[in-house]
Amino acid sequence: MDRSDICEVLHFIDGERVPSADGATLDNFEPATGESLGTIAAGGAVEVDRATAAATRALPGWSDQSAEYRGAWLEKLADAIEQRLDDFAWAESVDNGKPIGAARTIDIPRAAANLRFFAGAARFQHQDAHRSRMAGEDLWNVTICKPVGVSGCISPWNLPLYLFTWKIAPALAAGCTVVAKPSEVTPVTADLLAQVAQEVGFPAGVLNIVHGLGPAAGAAIVGHPGIPAITFTGGTATGAAIASQAAPLFKKTLLELGGKNPTVVFADADLDAAVEGATAAAFSNQGQICLCGSRILVERSILQSFTSRLVEKAQEMTIGDPLDDSTQLGSLVSASHREKVEACLQLAREEGGEILCGGQRVAPDGRCSEGYFLSPAVVTGLGPATRTNQEEIFGPVATVIPFDDEAEAIEIANGVRYGLAASIWTRDVDRALRVSEKIEAGTVWVNCWMKRDLRTVFGGVKESGLGREGGSDSLKFFQEPTNICIRFDSKGPGSSDE
Ligand code: NAD
Repeated sequence: MDRSDICEVLHFIDGERVPSADGATLDNFEPATGESLGTIAAGGAVEVDRATAAATRALPGWSDQSAEYRGAWLEKLADAIEQRLDDFAWAESVDNGKPIGAARTIDIPRAAANLRFFAGAARFQHQDAHRSRMAGEDLWNVTICKPVGVSGCISPWNLPLYLFTWKIAPALAAGCTVVAKPSEVTPVTADLLAQVAQEVGFPAGVLNIVHGLGPAAGAAIVGHPGIPAITFTGGTATGAAIASQAAPLFKKTLLELGGKNPTVVFADADLDAAVEGATAAAFSNQGQICLCGSRILVERSILQSFTSRLVEKAQEMTIGDPLDDSTQLGSLVSASHREKVEACLQLAREEGGEILCGGQRVAPDGRCSEGYFLSPAVVTGLGPATRTNQEEIFGPVATVIPFDDEAEAIEIANGVRYGLAASIWTRDVDRALRVSEKIEAGTVWVNCWMKRDLRTVFGGVKESGLGREGGSDSLKFFQEPTNICIRFDSKGPGSSDE
């Protein structure tokens, strides 16, 4: 596979890869070099209308099938992704700027795993039945779950295929057909998935992909009367815009939004593990993961030793060509995003913070000299209420904040408008549980970070989101339950008036 294979990203509508009706395109760039990668079809209301019509036509034929039938199709997509693992990993790395090692071992395997997981989860989904006796009548309540219909799936750029499949897999497994929009910043692997779907003969119209800008293609999905459910992962401000567009239309909405997650390090922690974990949490994927621990809260007695080791670790990270297997930190996703992160660092300085390391533009030798690289930054000296410690930066920037006791750690951890995730480092099991229960977040990791079992619930509180994904929660979002209450004339066994 080479650049010519990814130079034209097209919509996938009714089983065909097609350009926009008016031929409109957007430019796509490789962040590690700044060079053009080609064009992206720029969709809007017309393409979303066509995709929705195709998904509506395909819905009865897909939703009436068994979970086994649908699961087999998802497994075929997963097989095809795995067979082309190197192509997908290369394309993800080129399109996003992330290290190819991460794409090969995390992003793409997880995309295949998402499809396989929900293929299986739908097969094993149970439905509730409750038997009741009322005034001598024998009543059986059977709750059936029906696919909600055509579902809109909108995903961000940081984990492109990983999060795209995290949304479409449960939708398809639950019996819905899909109109999906990947980020316009990283559309390439979704287009490769469309090609793979064509190759395996995936039923036409079941999965449709419309590319384009959020306010055009995305808003057209959210506003379309033929799409009753919207699942979105992205920024909090976009989530608010989607919620206000969808609410008067009474659409089901699931929102996975931003974070400002605390890593809380107590003095009794295994320091080697905590430094390792805090570094990974702060800088993985160039700090561009919603779950990144961007505020590192450290018990004052170990502040000096912990911070100097953190700085050492950050400085040791290998920044370079994302296509080089030894690279640990690739490029930020775009020129404008790097500028945004640099503006946050400037604000940190203005607020009185000290940048202990990093925050510098880096120009790796060779083909990446014009890429959007930034060295990982550790910032100290800022109070918890500063904007730097309140606002999501979404780049390789972590702040260190001291605390004196457990109560203060919890207060600082919770003192932001977000509540997505936290990690706690301590050897004291009682404390781990006490603090975990008090932290306002959808996920708390203890002595680890970003370990995900796909069966577990995932999501945010406060401004980090609305609703939950993961396991049966994902499937349920794409279903509407109907309770059927049946009265039987015969009195069954165990009845009190037998
Ligand atoms: P973004 O909100 O800018 O874009 C996300 C998607 O929404 C893109 O596909 C975009 O085109 C689309 N979009 C933009 N405006 C829209 C509109 N008005 N209507 C419909 N769709 C619209 O987010 P991003 O910059 O791509 O991603 C980074 C953000 O995502 C960060 O805030 C990060 O924390 C968050 N994120 C959250 C999670 C989570 O699980 N909670 C996971 C990954 C990323």
